[in-house]
Amino acid sequence: MPRQTLSVLGSTGSIGVQTLEIVRQRPEDYDVYALSAHRNVALLAAQTASVQPKVVVLTDLAAYKEAVKDPAFSSVRVLFGPDGLDEIAAAPEADTIVAAIVGVAGMQSVAVAARAGKRIALANKETLVVGGRWIMDLVSTHGATLLPVDSEHSAIFQVLQGEPAHRVAKLILTASGGPFRTREASFDDIRPEDALRHPNWEMGAKITIDSATLMNKGLEVIEARWLFDVHPDQIEVVVHPPSVIHSMVEFVDGSTKAQLGPPSMLVPIQYALTWPDRTPANHPRVDWTKPTQWSFSPPDLTRFPCLSLAFQALRQSDEAPGVLNAANEVAVAAFLRGEIRFTDIPRWVERALTKFSAVKAGNLSDMLEVDQSVRTYLSEPAT
Ligand code: NDP
Ligand code: MG
Repeated sequence: MPRQTLSVLGSTGSIGVQTLEIVRQRPEDYDVYALSAHRNVALLAAQTASVQPKVVVLTDLAAYKEAVKDPAFSSVRVLFGPDGLDEIAAAPEADTIVAAIVGVAGMQSVAVAARAGKRIALANKETLVVGGRWIMDLVSTHGATLLPVDSEHSAIFQVLQGEPAHRVAKLILTASGGPFRTREASFDDIRPEDALRHPNWEMGAKITIDSATLMNKGLEVIEARWLFDVHPDQIEVVVHPPSVIHSMVEFVDGSTKAQLGPPSMLVPIQYALTWPDRTPANHPRVDWTKPTQWSFSPPDLTRFPCLSLAFQALRQSDEAPGVLNAANEVAVAAFLRGEIRFTDIPRWVERALTKFSAVKAGNLSDMLEVDQSVRTYLSEPAT
């Protein structure tokens, strides 16, 4: 594999930290040009000492001001905000951009990296949920390469190597079912600390709540529609609690191929970095000598309405998934602050989808305006 220079956007998050773990395991393969964090100055300082980037970006103003004075950053350029992210996303010094910011806040930098023709390892699924059509256009117009990090999409991407599109019948995304799959008590009383305890995966807070509501799977359905250019009817979701089968593709001849591994993000992150190659790693493996049983079941759309809302938005228009995403970001943040109930999350999403059912957007900046309008609407008292 040729040596690569990376910029890791969102390096202090769960995906960012694991990306740097891979970099440290194989220093012969990677250089790091830039890192970004929102406000975690202490971790960014430790990462700077460890992987020695040339540039760091902080998107929170107070954190930026703190970093500028911090001797830990004396040998690097310290940039601020969205302009800083734009600069590192397009900088000629880096060939690969790891997009690991959470939420729609990560979309603009992915668009900039696409316009610069970069290789983009995409963890930030919200980018494709909100801007799917326009981001995919930018990628093809500017000859960029978009490589999925999300484990389900990495699985499908790995299964599709050497398989042209006309052979694909459907994509089957697996879902763990989250912490409340078997809960009998009412979902009304779920507290943030209950929802933050995921059975299989250790992830950032937002995606952990999304996994508990199954909105994460809904966002992934939308992400898959754009990444693999399939019709919504060609995407199915199946609940598979152990999260060992990461996803499957059924082909036109009736054969189904799957990609498997333990529930760890290290393999999908590394595959996005090494594709089309693979490099040795001591990531966790499945122990096939142990007896085991797997189950598969359809998702319960009554108890987890977020998944149906995502399918509904995807079928409705190119803009509706952006409305769904904005409402979900606002509702998840409010739930984490203890201001609304777990069961209010789908209610808020549905309210926004109804209110903005006719909204239109011609490009990505229109979509960011739609995002803002939804946030403003939900911040006003419900009538
Ligand atoms: P985390 O919350 O752990 O990390 C988010 C990163 O983004 C941090 O570096 C954070 O900085 C930064 N950040 C937060 N808010 C902003 C903002 N407004 N502007 C710029 N940067 C910001 O998230 P995850 O690593 O869990 O997830 C990242 C993305 O990857 C998400 O889109 C998620 O859906 C996706 N993903 C994650 C998986 C996982 O296993 N974690 C699996 C599959 C996909 P700071 O630390 O300073 O706050
Ligand atoms: Mg996933």
